[in-house]
Amino acid sequence: MNEFIARYLNYPLWELFSSRHAFVFYRQLKSLEASQWKGRKYLQALKNYKLRHLVSHAYKNVPYYHHLMKRLKIKPDNVVKEEDLQKLPILTKDIIRKNINNLVARNYGSNSYYASHTGGSTGKVLNFYRDKTTHEFNLAVNRRFWRWARYDIGTKVFYFVGSPYDMKQYDTFRVKFHNILINQVNINAFNMSDDLLDEYSLKMARFKPKILHGYANAIYLFAKHLDNHKMKFEGPTAVITTSEKLYPYQRKFIENFFGCDVFEEYGCREMDLIAHECPAHDGMHVASEKYVFEVLDSKNHPVVHKNGYAVITDLNNCAMPLIRYMNEDMTSRKEGECSCGRQLERISGIEGRTTDFLSGQNGRIVSGVAVTTYLSKVEGIQEFRVVQNIFGKIEILVVPAANYTDKVDAEIRKFMARYLGDNAQLKIKKVKQIPFTKSGKRRTVINESRHII
Ligand SMILES: [Zn+2]
Repeated sequence: MNEFIARYLNYPLWELFSSRHAFVFYRQLKSLEASQWKGRKYLQALKNYKLRHLVSHAYKNVPYYHHLMKRLKIKPDNVVKEEDLQKLPILTKDIIRKNINNLVARNYGSNSYYASHTGGSTGKVLNFYRDKTTHEFNLAVNRRFWRWARYDIGTKVFYFVGSPYDMKQYDTFRVKFHNILINQVNINAFNMSDDLLDEYSLKMARFKPKILHGYANAIYLFAKHLDNHKMKFEGPTAVITTSEKLYPYQRKFIENFFGCDVFEEYGCREMDLIAHECPAHDGMHVASEKYVFEVLDSKNHPVVHKNGYAVITDLNNCAMPLIRYMNEDMTSRKEGECSCGRQLERISGIEGRTTDFLSGQNGRIVSGVAVTTYLSKVEGIQEFRVVQNIFGKIEILVVPAANYTDKVDAEIRKFMARYLGDNAQLKIKKVKQIPFTKSGKRRTVINESRHII
């Protein structure tokens, strides 16, 4: 499909057909394109304005917040700026599970929101509702992010869908037709056998995408496969990875193989895209027009220059307000201005979920990134996963390569002992393949035992 036709004809017609408004989207996009360059003061004032509206609406129309604020003797007038948010408690996934019906705004009809759910990293389902009335704004936020990677509506995208749930959702005539209209091809990244990877590479050669988008590990595996088979593709202008931590060695390989920039995006299903790398590749910018983003320690105090829990307020979801929502991801705040000149605040990138860290008997907390970076460099290991189970024991699943020897075992044990203590209970198990997690991810480090900070 010609990109110009996809952008200016197919997309507006599709939105009209779906009872949405492309012109509202373009207006929002234009406004967001401008606001990213405006000063911090402007963005702060906008955030505070939206926050006041959200809190006042939640107090009036959302039973959970009404009762909570009454109990805490907080009036909407007491929450007028970002710092005041600290007067309200954190919203956890468990609270949402217990109060799902009381979190829906009473003045919102059932046709103004839609139900969705996430399995999260643990596979424990969380149901929630998303506001339909802000569809155009949300889409504009996402598209502004992608424009940093030189995407525009109609640009050819090869999308690696990692979750079986998503793939099922996308396997409908409506979605397939929509994808043809706007130049998107969906690839099932949940199933990446050698035969299918060959099939995907043929598809890619025919389709000639400009953007590759999808689960970080899936795109990395795909690039590895192409490289192993001495196939080379020219043409992608950017790779955008999502949903999984992108490790530096993966980024380097993907960049070199496709000869283009790699951008990491960050979002969660409960809220949509939240942050994205800009062309300066120095952390991720948060969409400050839509979110209040806090980084807190285990006592809920703000932390700077070190990892903490991401606590996010979606200023646009009025159907089911998520105020100070802790989604269990960990990151750190990045201070100072970005060299790109955008005034949107920055985070360093997602360091993983709380369940991506290992805890040693010696009290040390070890980032899954460090463990993954190390293990990925050990000769003789094809694939691996480190699991800390509920008893604190650590099991390392290894798919051995042909040159695997007992020396590799000893090397792994030495490395783990250095970080987690000599008495770390470690088991190395050789397996033929690493199973997917329930959410379709290929996580390399999983802590099933407890939250770690
Ligand atoms: Zn920047």
